[in-house]
Amino acid sequence: MTPDSCIFCKIVAGEIPASVVYQDELVLAIRDLNPAASTHVLILPKQHVESVNDAAPENETLFGHLFSVARKIAEQEGVSTDGYRVVVNTGKNGGQSVPHLHMHVLGGRALTWPPG
Ligand code: AMP
Repeated sequence: MTPDSCIFCKIVAGEIPASVVYQDELVLAIRDLNPAASTHVLILPKQHVESVNDAAPENETLFGHLFSVARKIAEQEGVSTDGYRVVVNTGKNGGQSVPHLHMHVLGGRALTWPPG
């Protein structure tokens, strides 16, 4: 998928509305349209990176930043103390439905493990 037809690129560009909870120069964080928990935020890189398969030395700042932002979101959402989960689904077997890298931040209830 090219950035021109990527739904998350369109959200980053402001062409599709989203509930934005945080943004900085590298990422935009939005509420998931179909939340799986009371806190379900997606952290989207502003640049089009497809998946963890693109993790490479030149992207290390971005990939590390995702975790730093996940911590901030968890604090902002009030789920830090009780705990939360960060998930990055990757590819078909990983359950990735949108081929633009995104980190899920889930909290607000006890999450089961392992996932299905
Ligand atoms: P994944 O299955 O890991 O690729 O996650 C994609 C997530 O994007 C799902 O949890 C969807 O509910 C969510 N999603 C898809 N379209 C939108 C949208 N327009 N705004 C917010 N979340 C979305």
